[in-house]
Formats: sequence, C-alpha cells, structure tokens
Amino acid sequence: MLGLLGRLAGATSEAKALAKAGAAQRAIASRILSPNDMQGDYDASRLLTTTLGTPDGKPREMTPADLAAFRQNARALGQRFKGGITPRQVIDMSLTIDRKRAREEITMAVPASARGVKDSNRKVDRLEVRFITNASKKYGATRHHVMVEFLGYSAAVASGAMSAGKAASLMRKQGIRLDCDCGRHQYWFRYVATVGNYNAGRSETGFPKIRNPGLTGVACKHVLRVMAEIEGAATVQRFLTRAIEKGRANEDGSGSIRTSQKEADKQAAKQANRPTVRGAHTGNRDFDRARAALRKASRATKTTPKQVAGGSKRIAALANEPAAREMLLGIIGKLGITREQAIAILAGVGK
Ligand SMILES: [Zn+2]
Repeated sequence: MLGLLGRLAGATSEAKALAKAGAAQRAIASRILSPNDMQGDYDASRLLTTTLGTPDGKPREMTPADLAAFRQNARALGQRFKGGITPRQVIDMSLTIDRKRAREEITMAVPASARGVKDSNRKVDRLEVRFITNASKKYGATRHHVMVEFLGYSAAVASGAMSAGKAASLMRKQGIRLDCDCGRHQYWFRYVATVGNYNAGRSETGFPKIRNPGLTGVACKHVLRVMAEIEGAATVQRFLTRAIEKGRANEDGSGSIRTSQKEADKQAAKQANRPTVRGAHTGNRDFDRARAALRKASRATKTTPKQVAGGSKRIAALANEPAAREMLLGIIGKLGITREQAIAILAGVGK
C-alpha cells in the first residue's frame, strides 16, 4: 500500500517541475508591480489595483501615495529581517490564521532528502533539506514540498570538537531560508521572504499589491508545520545528525542522504495519529512544546499600520519603528529641546 505522503522516489524532480511551472506562469503575468514601478516609473495608464487600506478587501485603483506606502512597507520589512530568521522566529512572527491552519490541517511533515551545497568558491555553504507535507485537500494538491536551507551547516561540519548530534541541535536553532510550492507562499509570502532575505526558491520582486500590500505574516501552514517539526521532533534531529555525519565524513560538507520509503511511511503514519485538538498531549515533550508554540498568540503579526500614505501618517508609522524612532528623536533633539519633549512630540504625531 502506498504511504500517506506518496512515493518519495521522484519527489525532487516533482518539486523542480512545480517550481518551473510556477516561474513560467509568473513570466507571462502582466499585472506585476516591478521594483522600477515602485521607484516612480509606474505608468498610471496600466490601471493597476491594490487592496491597501480598503475595508472590504476589494481592489481599487492604485495612486502615487500607494507607491510611497509600498516603498515604506518594504523598507520596514527589510529592517525587520536584517539578522535573518530562525525556525522559532518563523513561528513567532507568523499570522494566527496560518498557525491555526498548520495545527488543524497539516498533520504530517517528513524530511525526505538532504544535500550539502557549496558556494561559488567551492566552500561548504548550507544544507538543503526537502520536506514533504500533506496538503489540506481543499485545492487539489495531495502533498506539498517545503525546502529549508540550514545556514549553520558549514559551522556544524567544521566544528569537529562537537558531537554531530550536538551540532545538529544547535543548527536547528540557527538561521534558515525557506520555500514552499503552495499558492499562499507564492502570492503572499515569496515577496516578503525575498525582501527579508530568507527565501530559498526563486526571488519574487513584484510587490503583492492585491494579496498582501501590508506585507503581514511570514510563512504558510506547510512551512509552519515543518518549523514545528524542526524544533520539536526527534526524527528531524536524527536526520540532521546523519546529514552532518555524512558531511564530516566527506570532509568538505558535500554529500546527500535520503529517508527510505519505509521509514517515511512509518513517520507519516505516526504523525497522522497524533491528536490535533487543543490541549492534547502526545507524550513527546519536545513535540508538545512545538505544537503549543503553534497555538501561542503571535508577538508581531503586523509589519506596518494598514495605510501609510500622507506625510504625518508616515511619520506616525516611523515613530512606532524602534530604529526609525531613535533617528527621529535624534533629529528632533537637534532642534534644541529635551529628549522628554521630543518623546512627547512623537507621541502626539502617533495619535
Ligand atoms: Zn505552503
């Protein structure tokens, strides 16, 4: 009988074919707002639309003020992800709705294969791990491919004084880049991931003016389910340990490992039997903790206020950004007033 996640043989070529089809579809799309458009070359006769600030989410015609707001949102986003992102942060910064879907709809996430990748100087750079998850069955797909690049891999291979297991558990907490083949990643989050420099697939430079003009959220339910697995599952820990051992044996970090069909089917069946209801415990403490994290209220679900158009509104938005706020305080300070007065002024603008 074929396992719950389908055949692993051919999964990599399936993922590559899906990525190619997505890129081809993107190439013929005419409603894309390019970086040049964003910088002011936008031709208004193109009549592009946006949902930014519309109460009903219905698209309306785009204005020059929207372009300014898009630029501001993208800048704030770049600042926010300056230090990269870790699996924990992906979960923490995600939207409540995506975490809820991850918990309730995505019951399985299994690492299928991993490969050490070198940079252009032929030095070991990162570990690419392909995960397979089940699909929610709402949109026809039977499974999804999530790619995670572990950026701590070169250090993990090099630090021979540390056991491979210990290096793996450290690597799980370090920086990653990610990609998913689903529509949510493609239309909502690929631009966010590209600007945030944590995108593992093809870059997306077209601003998501209809789907996600506020640039909120970080990852889809498949990615979130994989993050919970990376954080909590002993099977992922063992898989990463094996990858590091292989990389060390090859000395240069190269080489690849696979999960056997039998093992993947076993893992998938075990995961599918886990309870997904609120408050349920599986008995696996690590996993329960990760699952609980998917439930937690998000600390930062929004990048910027809904509409950032006029001058004072933009300053108000900046006043809420820690780094920009310090800069503004500095400028106001030069006017010869006290810091307390400057804070009071900013508080007034924010109203
Ligand atoms: Zn996805």
